[in-house]
Parts: sequence; C-alpha cells; structure tokens
Amino acid sequence: MGHGASASIRILDERGGFGAPRRVSWAGGRFALGGEPREGDLDGSGLWMIPGLVDAHLHAAWQAFDAEDRVRLGEERTRRLVADGLRRTLVSGFTSVRDAGGLEPGLLAGVPTPERPRAQLSVRMIDRATADAEGGLDRAVEGALEAGARWVKLVATAGVAAPAGTGLDPVFTAAEQRDAVRRADREGAGVMVHAWGGAAIDDAVAAGALSIEHGIFMTDAQARRAAERGMTLVPTLRIYRLVRRMIDAGALPVAFRARVDEAVAEHPRAVLRARDAGLPIALGTDYGTVEQHGTGRLEFDALVEAGLAPGEALIAATSAGARLLARVGGAEEAPAGIIAEGGIADAVILRRDPREPGALSDPESVVAVILGGRRIDPAPRP
Ligand SMILES: [Zn+2]
Repeated sequence: MGHGASASIRILDERGGFGAPRRVSWAGGRFALGGEPREGDLDGSGLWMIPGLVDAHLHAAWQAFDAEDRVRLGEERTRRLVADGLRRTLVSGFTSVRDAGGLEPGLLAGVPTPERPRAQLSVRMIDRATADAEGGLDRAVEGALEAGARWVKLVATAGVAAPAGTGLDPVFTAAEQRDAVRRADREGAGVMVHAWGGAAIDDAVAAGALSIEHGIFMTDAQARRAAERGMTLVPTLRIYRLVRRMIDAGALPVAFRARVDEAVAEHPRAVLRARDAGLPIALGTDYGTVEQHGTGRLEFDALVEAGLAPGEALIAATSAGARLLARVGGAEEAPAGIIAEGGIADAVILRRDPREPGALSDPESVVAVILGGRRIDPAPRP
C-alpha cells in the first residue's frame, strides 16, 4: 500500500464546490484530512483534488462495433486490448467503472487492480434475441447472474439502428422487467435498463430497476417518477457524435444517420430534464474501442455543454456514479466518491480548476491518479 500527502490543496466537496485549501493524506488505502504539513508533502498550492472519476457505462471488451469483427479479433488479442483499454481508463482518472456488457470475468484475469480501475460487470447484454435464444428472459437473467453479473443489463428499446422517429417500442413486457428485477434482487444484483424512451422507461421505473441508460427521449414526468424511485440516469452524450463520425467515415451504415442525428439533438435535453426533476445523473461514456478508452473526461465537457453547471457535472462524474455502484457492491468495489476522513483513497489531482471550460479534459491537467492510496504510474507498460 502506498502513502502520501498533499498540503494546502483544494478538495471537491459534496456539493460540487471547493473550500479553502487544506492538507489531505492517504495511507493504508484511506484518506485522512487535516494535520500539520510535513516534509515530503506534495505542495498542493494551485492544485485541485477530486475523487476518482466513475464511468457508470462503458464496454471494456467491445473492441469492434461489429459482432463478426469482435470474433475475428480472437481471445488473446481481445485480452490485450481489454487490459490496455482499462489501463488507459485508469490513467485518465477513472478509478471505478461499470461495464454495460461484453466484459466476462475471465477477461479480467491477469489484470488486477491497480493495473485497472475497480470494475462491476453486467457480463452480457440481454436483448430480445438473447432472451429468446436462452428460452426466455428469466433464463437469460439467470445465466448472466451465474456468469458473475453484478448488474443485469436489459436492452429494452432499439438504439442507433432504428429508423428516425421510431425505435421506442418496448422490447420486454412490464411483467418481464419486473421479474428480472426480482430475480436480480435475490442475488443482490441491480438492473440497468437501456431505454431510449417510451414505455420501456415507465416499465423500468415500475419494476424497480436502478438506472436508465441513455434515456434520450425521457419525458419530464418519467424523470420525476424515476427520481421518486431513487433511480439514476446515465446519459451517454458523446458516443452518438462519435457514431455519427463513424457513419460519415463509411465505417457504419448511412441508414443509421437520421436516428443518430435525432439522438445528438435530443440527448442534452434529457440531461436537463433529469437535473430539473432531481433525478441523479451519473457520467457514462459507452466507450468500447481502445482508441476511445482514456478519453472519458470529454464526456464531462459534454455534460457541461448540455447545460449542467460544472459543479453538477463534477458530481455526475464522481459521487453520483459511486452511489449507483454502491447499490450492489461493498466499499472496496464501490468507494463513496467523496474525499472524506477514513474514505477509500481514490482521487485525481489536477493542476487546473476543473470547473474552468476544458480544464478537466485538458491532457496536461492530471498531476496524479490515486487508486486505493497508490499513485498510478502514468507511463504505458512495456
Ligand atoms: Zn452501452
């Protein structure tokens, strides 16, 4: 276990602000606040410290958009790309992630922390085809839980592949979503529901799912009901712009273009509806490929561009995601996402005020990433 300290550093508080500079130290994987400056302390004057970032929705093993291309990569290459992608994610400041499908526990073998962020897995995405192939949604849920899922990921509406103006038809019945939540609940697992909008969101709320993924066309009333039920919205703003770029580059079908344009235009409004309804928002990237991993701080910029105050976006990128992950995991798996006395020492030290435009995503801004009290070496492994 590493240890260290920084004197007179500004620390993110629970409301997304920074108080007067103070001393923070970490030892045995835990934070301690205060105390007299000592020799060897990092001089924190002019530095900012935030809790480790949380990516509540990524796909660490989604190394190609196309299923056939993923198979073609083969296991050894996939394993290396997963390790590389997770390491980039950690070095960029994300100390906890929730994989939204594709990452099998076996792919993490040989990549222990602190080589990667803390991770919670959903193992597989369950859509209608998966459920049918496995003899029903209940069987598919069972299978995911047996495979080690802490989160059951339901794909409850279509996504980018739907024609413009369509694609909100619910994939599962209300009863199916409810049964999936009950089944997951028995194992202490949570349910995360990919839903762009429509009745699938109502059903997820009624069923007791813990998070809505994307929620692009979520209404004000849905946001209010989700807030009352203690849910979290995980918007993924930037990925649809990346998908649009891939379409323009010929890497994805032009037929997706109209629906992706709608998503890009509408998604920021869903973020503001959630904020105004008091529905917690957690940052999610939906990143898959190794080029995308490590650029997650750009999603913070996208949240601010959507209209969140920088302090609100900092909460979305830290404690809101941490709270969501904590619904199904112990403290080691899901630290509190705040810098507090005795709290698990996951943090990012920055040389710029992260509330300034572009400061958090500035590649030069990160001074240090700390995971469980260890300072992460930013250099790539040989
Ligand atoms: Zn996803």
